[in-house]
Amino acid sequence: MSDAQELLELARSLRARIEDGDIRLAPASPVSLSPKPPTPPSEPVSLSPKGERGGVRESVVASTTLESLKEQVSACKKCPLGGQRLNAVFGVGSAQAEVMFVGEGPGYQEDRQGEPFVGRAGQLLDDILRAIGLSRETVYIANVVKCHPMKDPGDPDARGNDRPPTPKEMEACMPYLQEQIRLIAPRVIVTLGNVATKALLREETGISRLRGQWRELAVPGMAAPLRLLPTYHPAALLRDPGLKRDVWTDMKNLRTELTKT
Ligand code: SF4
Repeated sequence: MSDAQELLELARSLRARIEDGDIRLAPASPVSLSPKPPTPPSEPVSLSPKGERGGVRESVVASTTLESLKEQVSACKKCPLGGQRLNAVFGVGSAQAEVMFVGEGPGYQEDRQGEPFVGRAGQLLDDILRAIGLSRETVYIANVVKCHPMKDPGDPDARGNDRPPTPKEMEACMPYLQEQIRLIAPRVIVTLGNVATKALLREETGISRLRGQWRELAVPGMAAPLRLLPTYHPAALLRDPGLKRDVWTDMKNLRTELTKT
């Protein structure tokens, strides 16, 4: 018998056994036209450093008011930036804000004025806030680090001397942000840009992939996790106006979230 005849014979035999019920074919899994079930929400990210169970980290005294926390920041020298700054840049806005915007750190202008987001990027942030019915007075704006990180601290008057904060500087300063969040207790945190988003979410994924995705942030001392929305830093929009469309989408999302009761 040739190979072809053998195969034909085998097929006939199998067909006969299937018709006799001797062999049962398992039904194929149904194909669904409905979209994939949503991925279950991941665990909230915690602002506590690894191994810490909660509460305020040592070296930052738990504060009862933003003013007393601001005094601690003004005197702080926990990292080298404390010896280089002109002014500590604590934060600005309403202590009862429902939404808190968090950037990476002060730049040249902020260092001189002691207020976050006061340059061109700050003006753009004001415009963005206005577009969704918010303002600098109704939200709270802060940074991950409170002192100006400079490429060359020996030349503080040079323009273009800004740099992102290092992981060590952010780790040193994070307890202040943690306390600010706990005292203000906003409903939502919006991280502005790569550095702030990575610092709070503790992951390496870039902002272009994280933006617009709601996450949860567990803050020590707070009963429930906060909603967190990453978006681009206003300075990125100045460099690439094509990003404005994404930020507008994120801000509409934010507005919808804030209108929920
Ligand atoms: S950046 Fe933060 S930790 Fe460093 S000196 Fe300034 S306030 Fe202190």
